Amino acid sequence: MDASQVHRQYQAFKQKGLKLDMSRGKPSPEQLDLSNALLGAMETYVAADGTDTRNYGGALGLPEARALFGELLDLPASQVVVDGSKSLSIMHDVIVFHLLYGATGQPRWLSAEPVSFLCPVPGYDRHFGICEALGIKMINVPMNDDGPDMDLVEKLVASDASIKSMWCVPKYANPSGTVYSDEVVRRLAAMPTAAKDFRLLWDDAYRFHHLGEEKIAIPNMLEECAKAGNPDRAFVFASTSKVTFAGSGLAAMASSAANIAWWQKCSSVRSIGPDKVNQLRHVQFLKNRANVEALMEKHRQLLKSKFAAVDAQFALQLEGMADVSWSHPKGGYFIDLLTPPGMAKRTVALAKDLGIVLTTAGASFPYGVDPQDRHIRIAPSYPSLAEITLAAEGIALSLKMAATE
Ligand code: PMP
Repeated sequence: MDASQVHRQYQAFKQKGLKLDMSRGKPSPEQLDLSNALLGAMETYVAADGTDTRNYGGALGLPEARALFGELLDLPASQVVVDGSKSLSIMHDVIVFHLLYGATGQPRWLSAEPVSFLCPVPGYDRHFGICEALGIKMINVPMNDDGPDMDLVEKLVASDASIKSMWCVPKYANPSGTVYSDEVVRRLAAMPTAAKDFRLLWDDAYRFHHLGEEKIAIPNMLEECAKAGNPDRAFVFASTSKVTFAGSGLAAMASSAANIAWWQKCSSVRSIGPDKVNQLRHVQFLKNRANVEALMEKHRQLLKSKFAAVDAQFALQLEGMADVSWSHPKGGYFIDLLTPPGMAKRTVALAKDLGIVLTTAGASFPYGVDPQDRHIRIAPSYPSLAEITLAAEGIALSLKMAATE
């Protein structure tokens, strides 16, 4: 297709007057409706052990909520904390506690600057936002098809004691959809690190969020760390933000018994106990793993056609275009569209002129800098199927326009 044809199509598309915000991976109203039973009356406000959930207390969470997440994460309940409704807040606090108080028996991270984190890229913008806000230096590590480039990771952590941590979204990563291989998981658990208090931030946000028939499972990171003689290395995070209600669900953290005790000590100064009413409400609704999986299957049915629609539009419009590709995730919430070098920002701006708001180009990289300006994060979950089909066409058209300039 020649440039003038692309220009004509782009101008014609503009007349549609589309108004779509696809900047975040939000569940659609239909997905949220799947959990509306949570809005009804509770069966009881008394927990199994007689706790009145309406009152203060229970720092680590209700026993039945810890047991539910234990079942979901394949871990003993004693290694799980259920606290608040946003796993991102727990991640933030785990980092702040290390900066201010230090790991058990170790100096606080702030006592020796700089503090550096490894950041597989592309990655989750809000992880990087926490680091930027707290003055943590971020070091990019390329993401391969089977997870982060482990040769580089091992080399860096072995030689640089300022590297205290690493962000990991091990399954259906945001935004690439990458699933870490068994070998990558085991190498992360076992690798020697110069920092004695090196921590893996294992964000299992998409553990049950399959898009295909295949329910991919990866090794249990806490078990692998324990086997490798590094029992306190990993903090695992999960939530029901994309299972029940985003922002009003449950969030959990799991780690070694020693780290749970450390967490309890550090977090007790900022809370007299979590929202146990919400915890009990969720336990009554979600019940067990089988029930959660059945609910996630309903999410999958709503999501998969939207992802397929984006894929089909991109294939129709962009197939064969040099240096253009996109991910084909088997789960999670995103598609990563790769433009030819130097065109992502321009494509996002052109899409905005069509009424399609996308995540800022570069957001998937530390400091918002995609060195090659190639990645655009597509979030198909929220719009209707008709809207997303149209939006994908508009995004593809914007990319073709950028290529003519
Ligand atoms: N981690 C990742 C990788 C995410 O993509 C998201 C949501 N976009 C979150 C965490 C946020 O989780 P929560 O709502 O539990 O804070």
